[in-house]
Amino acid sequence: MVAERANGQKRRRKVRIRWGRFLVSLVIAAALLAGIGFAAANAISGGAALGFVRQLLGGEGGGAGHQGGEEADGGAGDAGLAGSGAGEVQPEGADGADGTEGADGGGLQAGADDARPEAAPFKGLYYYESDKLDRYVAYAAEHSGLSAGDVVWRVNIKLDKPFYTDIEIIEDVYSLPVLVNKYYRLPDDFAPKEFAKIGGGYRVTPETAAAYESMAADAEAAGMALRPGSAYRTIEYQVNLYARYKSEDGEAAADTYSSRPGHSEHHTGRTIDLVGPTGTLNGFTGTEEAAWVAENAHKYGFIVRYTAENEEITGYMPESWHITYVGAEAAGTMKKENIRSLEEYMVKYVYHSQ
Ligand SMILES: [Zn+2]
Repeated sequence: MVAERANGQKRRRKVRIRWGRFLVSLVIAAALLAGIGFAAANAISGGAALGFVRQLLGGEGGGAGHQGGEEADGGAGDAGLAGSGAGEVQPEGADGADGTEGADGGGLQAGADDARPEAAPFKGLYYYESDKLDRYVAYAAEHSGLSAGDVVWRVNIKLDKPFYTDIEIIEDVYSLPVLVNKYYRLPDDFAPKEFAKIGGGYRVTPETAAAYESMAADAEAAGMALRPGSAYRTIEYQVNLYARYKSEDGEAAADTYSSRPGHSEHHTGRTIDLVGPTGTLNGFTGTEEAAWVAENAHKYGFIVRYTAENEEITGYMPESWHITYVGAEAAGTMKKENIRSLEEYMVKYVYHSQ
């Protein structure tokens, strides 16, 4: 066939083939680059991130006690983490990510740990992870009042480590619910796929908007008025805001009342801050709207994300006004099972299942 074609046709075909190969090469090159980028991002999300964050904080560390006020106001501490060359900073030694079995030879193989007597209180739990046994034991020793179950889910979600250490970049960014906190951050280029507007012109994802409008209508029928004061925020916005706080109050102080970019739930487009009659966030606390929301939000798939009960889990002071769309299933289960934080829910119903 080919031989019988006119020269022109053959030549065109060859050119087409070369273009095809070129495209294939391009795709391979792109995939390789993406792979390298991903690996780099992963590399710095572990122990190196800790060192880098410490460096950023001038030695203060991302320590516990970040009991700041409005996390919503953004923050920028580690904005440059992704791709900033932080992977070269390794002051903390090899003890980064899981920290379970150090490189110092004490390590038994995961699985063999189950036979150790210390595993007895924990290993029957369906969300027990055998590679974390040493951390469970250590955390239990420091928190004698906690049940074995509480120790296990807390350690699984990294609460045995200081906030803003061992930071992981979230992969399933569009999953519902998604856990965004001081250990799990969104990638710098993250943005919701779609937006819809709610009262006041604030932007959220379409599902969040639908759920919110339904809730707001029922609140109104009950004689109340819900009023958003903030919703979606870009990571860039957080960077700038935090920079301002930092220049005004200093880095350590700024860190106590605002979240770092990538770590705010407001990036997800599923979070809304409600305001009180005078238009302030604090003004929402104590209103009958706040009480109604705390009692009813789960019916629409929302949770009040930061409460007095989960302050030590989230690292944020209670915010009656900050509601997050997690979907009716998650919100309903949390209410029914008295699960007080999204962190606990993720361990018990998303990362593991009964
Ligand atoms: Zn908020």
